[in-house]
Amino acid sequence: MPASTIDRSRSGSSSSGSPSDISRREWLVGAGAGAAALMLEGREAEAQPASNRTVVFSNTTVLNQDAVQNNVALAVQGDRIAAIGPTDQILQAYPQADVYDGRGKALVPGLINCHAHLGQTLARGFNEDFGFPNNYRLAVQPTSLLSREEATLMAVVGALEAIRTGSTTVVENVSGTGRTAAALAETGLRWVFAESATDREGGSPMSPEVLAKGEAPRFSAKMRDEGLQRINELFTAWHGKEGGRISVFPAAGLAENSSPELLAAVGAFAEKHDLGYTIHLSQSRAEVAYMRRHHGVSPVGFLARHNFLGPRLFAAHCRYVDEADIALLGKSGTIVSHQAGMAANRGVIPPIPALREAGCPIANGTDNNTNDMFEVMRIALLTERIRRDDEFPGVQPQPEDMLADATLGGARAVRQEKAIGSIVVGKKADLLVLDTQRVHIVPAVRILSAWIHNGQPSDIESVMVDGRFVMRGRKILTVDEDRIIAEADKVGRRVWAEVQKASPIAVPRLLRPS
Ligand SMILES: [Zn+2]
Repeated sequence: MPASTIDRSRSGSSSSGSPSDISRREWLVGAGAGAAALMLEGREAEAQPASNRTVVFSNTTVLNQDAVQNNVALAVQGDRIAAIGPTDQILQAYPQADVYDGRGKALVPGLINCHAHLGQTLARGFNEDFGFPNNYRLAVQPTSLLSREEATLMAVVGALEAIRTGSTTVVENVSGTGRTAAALAETGLRWVFAESATDREGGSPMSPEVLAKGEAPRFSAKMRDEGLQRINELFTAWHGKEGGRISVFPAAGLAENSSPELLAAVGAFAEKHDLGYTIHLSQSRAEVAYMRRHHGVSPVGFLARHNFLGPRLFAAHCRYVDEADIALLGKSGTIVSHQAGMAANRGVIPPIPALREAGCPIANGTDNNTNDMFEVMRIALLTERIRRDDEFPGVQPQPEDMLADATLGGARAVRQEKAIGSIVVGKKADLLVLDTQRVHIVPAVRILSAWIHNGQPSDIESVMVDGRFVMRGRKILTVDEDRIIAEADKVGRRVWAEVQKASPIAVPRLLRPS
């Protein structure tokens, strides 16, 4: 979904204040007045600072993309994986450790979501069923009915879902991240805030009205400057914060909303600060038609013309790309963030096999509404098998390939492959504890395959980020989940009642034989 369409809260545009203008204290106070005091300061005692703890997972299985180590222990010291070895030796070496009984469990690298719009939890049960661009004409946009605190609440709901479904790193790709940054940081996840800028004037270019008018894009230096200023301010306020757990990347919103000048500025910012950058690319037929009409070239061709492709770029989607586009993406080393679930939802399977063959590294993301990377791995596997249409189908890709995309692929996209993405001594302790003794997984001989094909996100019983449990024994430790759910449900019901009063939602059902 275009980032530009998702952040229109009543509180006004993000350029009206500093990106870090909601501090943690203000979030607590603001939430206390509106959406209840949702963050639990007291619980930080349970999720202690990294320097103070050593955790040993005993008698367990360590599962990586290309190797399984059975009957080992893993020690976490501070924010790092300190040792992997025989349980008795590890326990001897770390006698003071908090011991986590790893019998019947497997440790899995934390999943990396390279493309999320967390606040879109508000549109669950609506946005999934009307294509892209969403063709349902609502008289009132749901996000316009949210207060600033409520919009933040919806983003936190998405973050909680991300934790429960196995993500340890999330790329939040919106404009105005400053409004939610403190609350998101509080959840304990590793974040990349990909702050999005656009400089095309007018409404969404993909709306039927704008497409019908056929007007050429007009770009605004003012919008561009404001967007770049937001990126710079967010970067100054948050990049490297929380012990390096937070990063800030620049993003151009969408190909059709970007001038060559904006693309150049985003690329230059990333280069200057040694960052990655992102954009929505070739996500709909309408986008391709628009770009061809007004720029005489495909969206990928437009980015190539303006030197935006390359190994720092992870481009979201790439669903409607032709052979020439695929060659350009592959040759440039552009990383493709594949949102398999949302693509399937929109009725399309991107040409991932051809993109791989051309040389594009593949990462994964969720996009709107859902933040469930476990489901993305499964859908990515199934849809890629269908898309390959092999003579003897059903063999490639393998679950190990999907885990590699969702972990190492993501780590590469966020330029942290040396620190995260696999369970290796010296890397950050970003990992999941999987309960393998579940009726839909046993006998867990090839655990990863059993889990991706037959498992459930609720098989994840604990999640550690940066050496700190954010969920342990299926209990979220960083924020008050029950209150957040209750409050979000209340807010969502109010908003949708108002939206449906203005425009009732009629569902276009299939004809059924009588
Ligand atoms: Zn998107």
